[in-house]
Amino acid sequence: MSFKAPRGTKDIFGEDIFFWQKVECILRNICESFCISEIRTPVFEQTELFQRGVGETTDIVTKEMYTLEKKGSESVTLKPEGTAGAARAFVENSMYANPQPTKLYYITPAFRYERPQAGRQRQFHQFGVEIFGSYDASCDAEAISVAYEALNKIGIKNIELKINSLGGNECRKKYNGILRDFIGRNIDNLCDDCRQRFEKNPLRVLDCKNEKCKNVIENAPSVTECLNKECKAHFDELKKNLDNMGIAYTVDPKIVRGLDYYTRTVFEFVSNEIGSQGTVCGGGRYDNLIGECGGPETGAVGFAMGLERIMMLVKSQELIESNSKSVDIYIGSIGNEGFLKAQAIGYELRKNGIRAEYDTLKRSVKAQLKYANKINAKYSVVIGENEVQNDCVSLKNMKESVQEEIKLSMLRDEILKRL
Ligand code: ATP
Ligand code: MG
Repeated sequence: MSFKAPRGTKDIFGEDIFFWQKVECILRNICESFCISEIRTPVFEQTELFQRGVGETTDIVTKEMYTLEKKGSESVTLKPEGTAGAARAFVENSMYANPQPTKLYYITPAFRYERPQAGRQRQFHQFGVEIFGSYDASCDAEAISVAYEALNKIGIKNIELKINSLGGNECRKKYNGILRDFIGRNIDNLCDDCRQRFEKNPLRVLDCKNEKCKNVIENAPSVTECLNKECKAHFDELKKNLDNMGIAYTVDPKIVRGLDYYTRTVFEFVSNEIGSQGTVCGGGRYDNLIGECGGPETGAVGFAMGLERIMMLVKSQELIESNSKSVDIYIGSIGNEGFLKAQAIGYELRKNGIRAEYDTLKRSVKAQLKYANKINAKYSVVIGENEVQNDCVSLKNMKESVQEEIKLSMLRDEILKRL
């Protein structure tokens, strides 16, 4: 019997895990500087949370959810994104009663039943930030600045920030009407999905990836024309804030994002170096969500960054050097007495933070030393009966191929001195 990882999932190990840890470390440090604290929410939530939170007409809810049904218990779904869970936690734990804003981040796996391809998996990972408790455009700018700085610190080049405003509830209503008319006139040129969804949520058509639909969308009326005075002012304020922080952007009136909950600001960071799945980060303001989740009306803005896509850029742009960490010392042994000494000393060194290895396969000395070379050990020793009896061992500097006699009982101090 042999097993395979499920389609659309990947094992992350070896050199890759080193890249992941580096990137995660950068992200955590940035959140520390931006005074954003981590939140870990469950991997599954009540299905209804996503239906309400992400939106009934989105691709995520209509096609992509991993929903688990267990007889007699409520339906739960593996999280397809992180915002709904964070919003649920904000309400359930009464975080709104704390002094605001509440700034949270997460690094989490997410699950979507999609057709796997480059940059698109069924289990993938997101780094996300949510800022709850303010309607002010400066918070939109702050969220964008976190993502911008994260991409900068990782070193990603040639990435473009696109921003747009979808307006508030009133502007959305007006725009939906205008858009529905436009789509109605062009209905014959749209894909089946869009023909279905345009009645319920015409905005979804703007987000369609089908080439046929993209051609139609080219000429669609822009949401910008429907923004009321307040929403226009909010968008202008955001642009001023970004200018103030020296964050470069372009305004793209066609950006709507794939989730229903956005209001006013939406944004994307896009790369054209990783194929057609070029959006590495998407976000926006979602002032209705906390209310939807049963909390008090609360302003909110956030984003999610797709870490697999980030990793594709980290590799193709060669942003992180490969793991150069080598083993500090290889402790070879001869016979059982030698092994017991090697094990005891190895354990002692490891407790002192020294990267020590010893033989656990009962190999010949020759094979042990070959292995020491292979794992790039900086130093090596071989402990046998004689070495134990005479408290003396030959310490070899593997790189320079020089040896010196030292006291076995002083091995720890001698190694510490040399590292
Ligand atoms: P896309 O347009 O690529 O389907 P989306 O609009 O569904 O993206 P969001 O829900 O906003 O994406 O998720 C935020 C980010 O998560 C995306 O910009 C992307 O980088 C990443 N992402 C989304 N779906 C996947 C997936 N199936 N595999 C890998 N990364 C993904
Ligand atoms: Mg998608």
